[in-house]
Amino acid sequence: MSDIFNNELFEAFASASDNVYIYVCDMKTDISRWSLNSVDYWALESEYIEDAANMWAKHIHPDDLDVYMDDITKVFAGKKKTHNCQYRAKNYLGEYVWVECKGSVIRDEEGTPKIFAGLMTRIDGQSKYDNLTGLLTTQWLHSCDFAAQTGVAVLIGIDGFRKVMSHYGYNTGDEILVEFSKKIKTLCHPGWQLLRFSGDEFLLLAVSADRQEIEDFYKIFCRETDVIELQDGHKVGISASAGAVCFPQDADTREHLINKLENSLEYAKNIDKGTLVFCSEEIVRTHERRQILRDDLKQCIKNDFQGFELYYQPFVDSETQTIVGCECLLRWKGDKIKDSYPGEFIKVLEDYGGIREVGFWVMEQSIRQQVEWRDTYKDLLVSFNVSYQQFMDETFEERLDFYAKTYGAKPEYMIIELTESCAVDNPKELAAMFDRLRRRGFRIALDDFGTAYASLEMLKSLQVDYIKVEHSFVRELSEPGHDIDYVIIDNLLDLCRHLGCLSIVEGVENSKVAEIVGTMDVSLLQGYYYSKPVCQEDFEKLLV
Ligand code: C2E
Ligand code: CA
Repeated sequence: MSDIFNNELFEAFASASDNVYIYVCDMKTDISRWSLNSVDYWALESEYIEDAANMWAKHIHPDDLDVYMDDITKVFAGKKKTHNCQYRAKNYLGEYVWVECKGSVIRDEEGTPKIFAGLMTRIDGQSKYDNLTGLLTTQWLHSCDFAAQTGVAVLIGIDGFRKVMSHYGYNTGDEILVEFSKKIKTLCHPGWQLLRFSGDEFLLLAVSADRQEIEDFYKIFCRETDVIELQDGHKVGISASAGAVCFPQDADTREHLINKLENSLEYAKNIDKGTLVFCSEEIVRTHERRQILRDDLKQCIKNDFQGFELYYQPFVDSETQTIVGCECLLRWKGDKIKDSYPGEFIKVLEDYGGIREVGFWVMEQSIRQQVEWRDTYKDLLVSFNVSYQQFMDETFEERLDFYAKTYGAKPEYMIIELTESCAVDNPKELAAMFDRLRRRGFRIALDDFGTAYASLEMLKSLQVDYIKVEHSFVRELSEPGHDIDYVIIDNLLDLCRHLGCLSIVEGVENSKVAEIVGTMDVSLLQGYYYSKPVCQEDFEKLLV
C-alpha cells in the first residue's frame, strides 16, 4: 500500500470536519483513500477505491457531469493548476447536494502526475442541507412561493425527545432522528419535500395535497414510525405529534406558515399528544392568550409576585375527622388575565422557565405559613407541589434548607408532593435526592397515584412517605357502575401498606364517598366535601 495513505496528516485532516470530505489518490496505481465521513455520507463501497474518477462521476448529477469532466481533464492534462468546480453529487440518501470540489496534482521530477489530493465541501452545508440527516433545511423555504401554489405543510415533532436523548445518549438520539427521517421519506408521495426543521422536528411540504390526503398519510405514518429499530437491533418506541397548515388559504407567506405550524404543533403537544392537528381559529386564539399570559406572568413576578396567592385545602385525619394539615395550591390573577386556572398558567410558567422563581416563592410561603400556624394554632402538616423540573434545579435543596432554617420550620411537618412523575427521566438521581431530604426530616408524597403519570415503575426506584390516590378514581365512587374504582383504590391502599407508606385519598366530594372511603384503611382525606381550596383567612376559620 502506498505510503501516502499511511499518513498521520491525512488522518488528522480527515477527522477535522463534518461537512468537508477529503481524498488523496496515488496516480500511479489509481487507488485513492477517502476520509471515513466521505465513505458514510456518499455511501462509498470502502475507504480505498480504485478508479475513483469513474466511480465519482456516477455520483454527479447528469446535468453537472460536463462541468466536472471538463475541469478534471484540464487539471490532469496540466492545462489548469488546480481542480475547482461546483456541482451536485448524490449522497447516501440518494439526494443530490451541492458541493465545491477542489484539488491539486503533485507531479514527480518528470512531470508525471504522482498524487492528486483534494477536498469537497458541501456549500451552504449548514444552511441548505442538514449535516445529520442530509435533508434540506428551512433555508430552502426562501425559494417557495406559498401564494402561488396549493398544498399542506405539516410540522412533525417527536414527543419527549429530550427524555429519549437523556435515556439513550446523543449518538443513539442522532441515529433515531436519521432513521425516523428515512421512514417519513419513504411515506412521502412523489413531489412532496421533507425538511429538517430543527432538533426533533421535520417539515413536510406536500404540494398539491389536500387535507384528506394528509390525514390518510398521518395514519400510516403513526403505524410505521411507532418503533424505530437501531443498528444494534434495539427497538425504541416513538410517538410524534404534528401541526398542519393548508396554503395558501391559512397562510400565504413563509413567516405566517412557520408561525401557524409552530402554534399548531405546540397545541397538539399540549392538548392532544400523538395526534395531527390542523390550524384553526381556536389554535390562533389559544396561542395569543398564552402570549399575553406569559407577559402578564413575567410582569407579576417582577413586581414581587404580585397577583400570586396560595390557597389551602385541608387534609382530614380519617380516624378523628379533624383537620391535621393542608395542601398549598397556587392561584394567580394577572393584570390583564384574571381567570386563568392552575392547569393553564402553571403550564405557561413551566414552558418558559418561570416556574423556577414561582416554585421557590411557593416553597418559601408554605414553610413560612406552617411556622405561623404553629405559633397561632397548632402544628399542621403543610404540603406543596413540586414538579420534576423544579426538583432538578441544582439550588433546590439549598433553598429548602435556607427557608426551613430562616423561618425555623420543623421539616417533619412539611410534605413535598412530586407532581407529574411522568417527566422523571433520571429516577436514580431523584431517589438519591429523596433520600437526602427524608434524612433531614422532610416528607415526600407521590402525587396523582394510579394515573399513567405516577406509575408503579416509579415506586420501584423511589422511596416516599405518602402516596396520594388520584381524585378521578374517588369522585364518582358512590355512583352506580363504579365498583371497579373501589377495587382500584382498595388495591392501591393495600400497596401503600405493603410499602410502609401513608395514604392520602383526594377527591372526596360528598358524604356518600366519604362514607365509603371511611370503611377503607386510609390515613388522610382531601376533597370538596371537607372544603374546597380556600384563602388563608377562610382556612383559618376551619381551624377554630
Ligand atoms: P393536584 O396537586 O392534583 O391538586 C389537586 C387538585 O384537585 C386541585 O386543583 C384541587 O382544587 C382539586 N381538588 C381537590 N379536591 C377536589 C375534589 O373533591 N374534586 C375535584 N374535582 N377536584 C378537587 P387545582 O388547585 O386547580 O390544581 C391543579 C394542579 O395544579 C394541581 O393538581 C397541581 O398539579 C398543580 N399545582 C397547584 N399548585 C401548584 C404549585 O404550587 N406548584 C406546582 N408545580 N404545581 C401546582
Ligand atoms: Ca398535589
